[in-house]
Amino acid sequence: ATPISTMIGVGKAAEHGVLVRSGEALQTASHLTTLVVDKTGTLTEGKPRLTEAEVLTGDEQEALGWVAALERGSEHPLATALLAHAEAQNAEAAEIQDFTSVTGGGVRARTADGRTLLLGNARLLEEAGIDLASGQARVEALEGQARTVVQLAVDGELVALFGVSDPLRADAKAAVARLRDEGLTLVMLTGDNAHTARAIADEVGIDEVRAGLLPEDKHAEIERRQANGETVGMVGDGINDAPALARADVGFAIGQGTDVAIESAGITLMRDSLHGVADAIAISRATLTNIK
Ligand code: ADP
Ligand code: MG
Repeated sequence: ATPISTMIGVGKAAEHGVLVRSGEALQTASHLTTLVVDKTGTLTEGKPRLTEAEVLTGDEQEALGWVAALERGSEHPLATALLAHAEAQNAEAAEIQDFTSVTGGGVRARTADGRTLLLGNARLLEEAGIDLASGQARVEALEGQARTVVQLAVDGELVALFGVSDPLRADAKAAVARLRDEGLTLVMLTGDNAHTARAIADEVGIDEVRAGLLPEDKHAEIERRQANGETVGMVGDGINDAPALARADVGFAIGQGTDVAIESAGITLMRDSLHGVADAIAISRATLTNIK
């Protein structure tokens, strides 16, 4: 493409609230074959709400007091939802020590009297040897309804489970349809579990799903596709997406996302909408059709 047509494309994109870091990013956007999309905060609003709270054994207020104490130390969007519920139930945050946060898993700590607390996804609890059988059927039912389930174990025993719902962005489905019409292969990547991921993917109209991923797995999935000859765009919002955004041929950061995501991306969407990705690709193709 000529420098002039590239400049025109960058200007047009800006009119649509799409900030392009370099002419090269726009050129690459014109021949993407594949778009991988983060789930939480990208396809969904990223503002999860607690919808179910089930205490399987023991005292409910005590369980919520532990949840409140654990999630006060976490910055994950799920933590905000669980904390809001505990507060609404007037639970008093318990005293805890040795708090640690496990990326892609959850949080752990000990109570003042030395009991071990573990709060997070099934993988985290299973790795700690906890038997999840008593909640299994309920968990599967909730995940089938696109809920993310967070479970609490105390001293190695499953005590409570929580269903959290993170609604799709209002325009996600329409934007995904536009991107498919542009001939792109869409793939959803998420740290969430496979059942929940599949339910969300079905709602939004994406066929391919990779679930249970750590940030480095998202990065590896992009590398694998590039080695396979695909030109890969990545859309994400969070710190956990930064390595993948940097690795992709073009990274698209959701403007309301974290600074780290924005710094790692070649294109930033100023409006909080996935239509910006479709706009950027359509504009790049319209202005740069003279290149391959
Ligand atoms: P993504 O943003 O791709 O959905 P994350 O890597 O942020 O994934 O989180 C993956 C999973 O780890 C979550 O779906 C959840 O099950 C679990 N998790 C992470 N942090 C917490 C937390 N503070 N409380 C409970 N669960 C958590
Ligand atoms: Mg995210």
